[in-house]
Amino acid sequence: MGAERCAWLGLLAAHALDALDSAERAGLEGHLRSRCAECEGELGRTRREVEALAESPAPVAPPPLVRRRVLNAVRPRRRRGSGE
Ligand SMILES: [Zn+2]
Repeated sequence: MGAERCAWLGLLAAHALDALDSAERAGLEGHLRSRCAECEGELGRTRREVEALAESPAPVAPPPLVRRRVLNAVRPRRRRGSGE
């Protein structure tokens, strides 16, 4: 079974927001160079969201939703199968 998710997935949102420190970024970029399909897909999606925010007309502080998304991405997800 290969149900485990890539350990780098949690850092992709922070990476798209340019919020990683240099060591984390170096590690993640090295991982992306190994062409992890899971991370490539997720990073593409996250980048699109960040760009959409950047292009939105109101140049205000990032909405709380963004923070929540980042926190959700960084925090380990609860395993499926216990509750639903
Ligand atoms: Zn990966």
